[in-house]
Amino acid sequence: MAEKGIRTQDWAAFRAEAQRMLEAALDQMQQAAERPWQPVPEDIDARYAVTAEARGPQQTVDRIIADVLPYHGGNTHPRFWGWVQGSGLASDLISSVAAAAVNANMGGRDHGANYMERAVVDWTRRKMDLPEGASGLLVTGTSQATVIAFQAARLRVLKDLRKQGQGEARLTAYAGEGVHNATLKAVELLGIGSDNLRKVPLTDGRMDCVALARMVAEDKAAGALPFLVVGTAGSVDLGLFDDLNALADAAAALGLWLHVDGAFGAWTRIAAEPYRSLSDGIGRADSIALDFHKWMYVGYDCGMALLRNEAEHRAAFAARPSYLEGAERGLAGGEPWFCDYGIDLSRGNRALKVWTALETYGEAAFSEAITGNCALAAFMAAEVEAQPYMALGAPVVSNVCVFTARSDLEPEAQSMLNAHIAQTLQESGEAVFSTTRAGGRVMLRAAITNHRSREADVQAAIAAVAREAAG
Ligand SMILES: *Cc1c(COP(=O)(O)O)cnc(C)c1O
Repeated sequence: MAEKGIRTQDWAAFRAEAQRMLEAALDQMQQAAERPWQPVPEDIDARYAVTAEARGPQQTVDRIIADVLPYHGGNTHPRFWGWVQGSGLASDLISSVAAAAVNANMGGRDHGANYMERAVVDWTRRKMDLPEGASGLLVTGTSQATVIAFQAARLRVLKDLRKQGQGEARLTAYAGEGVHNATLKAVELLGIGSDNLRKVPLTDGRMDCVALARMVAEDKAAGALPFLVVGTAGSVDLGLFDDLNALADAAAALGLWLHVDGAFGAWTRIAAEPYRSLSDGIGRADSIALDFHKWMYVGYDCGMALLRNEAEHRAAFAARPSYLEGAERGLAGGEPWFCDYGIDLSRGNRALKVWTALETYGEAAFSEAITGNCALAAFMAAEVEAQPYMALGAPVVSNVCVFTARSDLEPEAQSMLNAHIAQTLQESGEAVFSTTRAGGRVMLRAAITNHRSREADVQAAIAAVAREAAG
């Protein structure tokens, strides 16, 4: 059945195909454990080539089921722990269908979806201990949230920035060694320059505030304008946390804006102890960047920028040319508009998937899953240490476990073996570890942000590593 024109004519046929697609999507999620990542077929480019011929919904759904669903990134599988990737929720199937039906543009105006985004921002603000009146918006992810936060921070010290640019001022920012590349990118994008991002040494895995004060003083003496310190709640390599209370004290004393990169680690806020206290003090930040698509398991993409001071947030982005003027009543009402808080004018409906997840499962279920992921990382560490030649690369602090399969080999041989094992287990579909460098060696790394993982998955994966290491 081919369609003529874009407007659906045969709704009965379309309905049947849409329902078939939904059933296949439900199967995919229900059977996530049987569907690991697999290499894409040689002819994938040919399969996906846009023919732009009207094939109709039936053929298109057939092709999606045959050629799209199998070649996913694997992060829905219970033994996927590579990089830091979220596992996706069944509730996303419900919210994405509803979101498609209303096709909301969340840039502004007076319609329900914006009220829902405000509710989601407010819930998150409370979880992050920010005061009432703090503002936020949903964005693609922590990378974009970081740019938004840094721009507001920069405006605090350069009042005419929006009109005149940064000019001769040399701004400097500070972050611990091991800060995520998103901070570097934001500094580059905003024209601050990566040389002006100072890497502060860590002591016991946390930014050394004495070194921070010394570096700020040196930069000031050299004519720079220190303006920003970036704390990390959950470092990407090892899951480490800065002492955010100490950083808030230091930022106040040094006159710096405190931004917290909490991409995944901010969610320890809703975990049980001992994990919750890792992010103590996060509510003292001027801004927080975090993701829902990692450790809140919500489908891609979904992050948030939170700013303590709404006026500073709005001052950095608000701009309303005449064709976007608001109104007292009607669709052009509904102030404030989200376009005044960030980069995008047209915005998709990310709020619905967060809201649907929280309303479907409840906050307590997320707390349990996050706490459980940390417990599972600790369990993995114990399994590693129980193996004769395996060894941890660093202590497990939160949800990240870094280890070597053969600590008895020379560093170079270890590196080669660990990299080989990561690839082999990815290709066999048994488990996905990524790799990182620790102690001068390439090591296997698991970042557990996966609500489908169980102890049996960890046992099976470590057994597979042991088999390959012996092999
Ligand atoms: C993933 C990550 C980022 C970048 O976030 P995106 O959502 O991928 O843009 C920044 N910081 C940390 C610590 C991360 O883990």
